[in-house]
Amino acid sequence: FRSSFVIDNRELTLTVSIGIAVYPDDGINSSEMLRNSDAAMYHAKEQGRNTYSYYTQAMNDSVARRLTLEEQMHGSIERGEFEVYFQPQLELSNGRMIGAEALLRWHNPALGPIPPLEFIPVAEHTGFIVSLGRFVILEALSKTAQWQQEFNHDFRVAINLSPRQFRDSELVPYIKNALQQCAVPGRCLELEITEGLLMSGHRSIDEALAQLSEIGVGIAMDDFGTGYSSLSYLRQYPFDVLKIDKSFIEDITTDRADRELIIAAIAMSHGLNLKVVAEGVETEEQLELLKQLGCDYAQGYLLGKPAPAAEISKLLAQESASIQNNTSA
Ligand code: C2E
Ligand code: MG
Ligand code: MG
Repeated sequence: FRSSFVIDNRELTLTVSIGIAVYPDDGINSSEMLRNSDAAMYHAKEQGRNTYSYYTQAMNDSVARRLTLEEQMHGSIERGEFEVYFQPQLELSNGRMIGAEALLRWHNPALGPIPPLEFIPVAEHTGFIVSLGRFVILEALSKTAQWQQEFNHDFRVAINLSPRQFRDSELVPYIKNALQQCAVPGRCLELEITEGLLMSGHRSIDEALAQLSEIGVGIAMDDFGTGYSSLSYLRQYPFDVLKIDKSFIEDITTDRADRELIIAAIAMSHGLNLKVVAEGVETEEQLELLKQLGCDYAQGYLLGKPAPAAEISKLLAQESASIQNNTSA
């Protein structure tokens, strides 16, 4: 499969993911062997495809866990098990909260709290992410509408979108309708996507991003620095914001190379007319340095952990009280 196939004068390349089970250790009949080699193949795909893996018991455990999650997901939205948390995003020049990122939380009575890094891939795999994503959009926009009316007309919300959500032809109409229903202007919504989405190269994704951009919705490149960090994507798609991944922010005060990379990313973004958000800011030193380097916005445990909407309301109330005190003094 290393060499390509020529069909109708077009060169096609295939990759293969292989799962291997060895008789008799990994199974004593064909159905066991098939099931276990399937689990190994699934693992090979998770490793980025185009590779092979041997079956191990741990794979079966992870398959069992995935099935349990799938089972528990049925009806979980209706049972009210999901809650949208919000993490503040601050403008570095004045320290004001300009908006928040919506981050989903799942409290399941049987399994306890399950982190998004575990349940989002499962929801993607089964397609459940489509309804879950709609729940997040509506929830986040209705809370945003409330904060805009009470505290700040320009309050923005950032929502993460997974690739599978773009395969839903109703995604763009759903977002447009939700914005209208909640009376939130398009420019106050930002959608966070990762490079992985763009790599699939589907026309429908280009069209969806263009349509959203047209109604003023911002597009942010999430986790910048972790994948290929392709500059051509930044030019090719209607991005407004670049989010530098927390793994880079972690060492900026100690690692010169990381600092240089961030300086370059900020200069490049500003040259392309993008705003820069630093993710995962945990220390005062990091915050100070990012300010000096001209980064626009920051988000991280130092400035506020992801929290229920009521906590954000409190923070906004405190902030507007202190602004009023300052102007009256
Ligand atoms: P992300 O979009 O890159 O979100 C940032 C993650 O970093 C969040 O993890 C947040 O809690 C965490 N974080 C924020 N500040 C700090 C910090 O100072 N230090 C450290 N160590 N971590 C920090 P979380 O909430 O566990 O979410 C993980 C990922 O799950 C998100 O990464 C996003 O890709 C995905 N996700 C979360 N909610 C949704 C959703 O509603 N829809 C979709 N499609 N994906 C979601
Ligand atoms: Mg994000
Ligand atoms: Mg991120």
